[in-house]
Amino acid sequence: MSESAEPQKRPRVNVRRPDVMTQVNAEVERHYRSSIVEKIRAAGGEITLGATTIRLAQQFGFCYGVERAIDLAYAARRVFPDNRIFLIGEIIHNGEVNRQLVDMGIVSLPWKELSADYDQLGPEDVVIVPAFGAPTTFMEKIEQLGCYVVDTTCGDVMKVWKRVRGYAKDGITSIIHGKAGHEETQATASRALGEDGQGHYLIVLTLEETDAVCRYIRDGGDRQNFLDRFATKASKGFDPDVHLRKVGVANQTTMLKSETEEIQRRVRESVVARDGSAENFLVFDTICGATQERQDALFEMLRRPMDLLFVVGGYNSSNTTHLVEIGEQSLPTFFIRNAQCLESLQEIVHYDLHRHSEIASAYPATLLGEAPVVIGITAGASCPNNLIEDTIFRIFEMRGVDRSELAGI
Ligand code: SF4
Repeated sequence: MSESAEPQKRPRVNVRRPDVMTQVNAEVERHYRSSIVEKIRAAGGEITLGATTIRLAQQFGFCYGVERAIDLAYAARRVFPDNRIFLIGEIIHNGEVNRQLVDMGIVSLPWKELSADYDQLGPEDVVIVPAFGAPTTFMEKIEQLGCYVVDTTCGDVMKVWKRVRGYAKDGITSIIHGKAGHEETQATASRALGEDGQGHYLIVLTLEETDAVCRYIRDGGDRQNFLDRFATKASKGFDPDVHLRKVGVANQTTMLKSETEEIQRRVRESVVARDGSAENFLVFDTICGATQERQDALFEMLRRPMDLLFVVGGYNSSNTTHLVEIGEQSLPTFFIRNAQCLESLQEIVHYDLHRHSEIASAYPATLLGEAPVVIGITAGASCPNNLIEDTIFRIFEMRGVDRSELAGI
């Protein structure tokens, strides 16, 4: 047998052993569960104390993909108590969850590029792949290094990969509706290159960008201008004169459904205007069920009058951001990280989507008086219930309701 200095690719380890999962479930419950949230949900999702009503969306918070990713990360720590454990970027977009992993000694590595940090890893190290997945170059690197890999990529993300790989195999360019700077979209884009790396993709985020693509599909245009505009959003060697002939639309799983549908419609229309048929257009709606349920639940919640909406979650969370966009169309909506953002009745610290920064604003005047108010709360798929509970406590506290009243429900 010939000797090789190359580390062997490790077989995947099953960290979800029954003995381990019993402990993991208890730990996860302790960190993220909220009995108050469960009680309010069981009571129909609404609670009134004094002049303050808090209404919860029918669906919010942790999705199945996030729960699974957290379980696997916790399980990895138990199965490998003495190994170094690394994580590509963040497990999910929530500061509270990521802080818990840091406390468990799990070290986050850069996810935007394969930095020199990866060269320091060896066969005894464990690398956790986050729920968003990771680009193929990262997966190849950690497998070459022979690390133990705990892959928490959500099944719904993998469905998108299957689709864009299929497009690449058939010579179809993937138009990906997503954020170019988001982990999931980067991971998906790498799969759109196909097994042989010869495939192509173009990432669009806004309707304005979509219109630029549609104009080129329909009428052609200034090739260099187009390439400059999409320089960081297109595959290497992308040529709009060649690679927009056959296109397939896919999306980041957490986008706003109405926007994704509009993008699909516009791209289709431009292909039909050029070719006289939709033969060179394919579409696959890849918004995940959990994102859809949370958006639908918020639309439903907004059918009844409310004074104010809080959306709780990480500021870099895509699905949470879209909940904020939906809320903003109907009522004063504040995107908060956690209860600490609710500084006082005079001031709220929140993320302003339009300014791309955290700012402090005054509450709507209705909150200051003693008149009855209804406050809605929802949260993205990466937000644990304990953060919702803290927010509920804080709102009641600011409105003059004693903690003990709520604790006693
Ligand atoms: S938001 Fe959707 S795609 Fe993302 S982890 Fe949850 S279920 Fe999976």
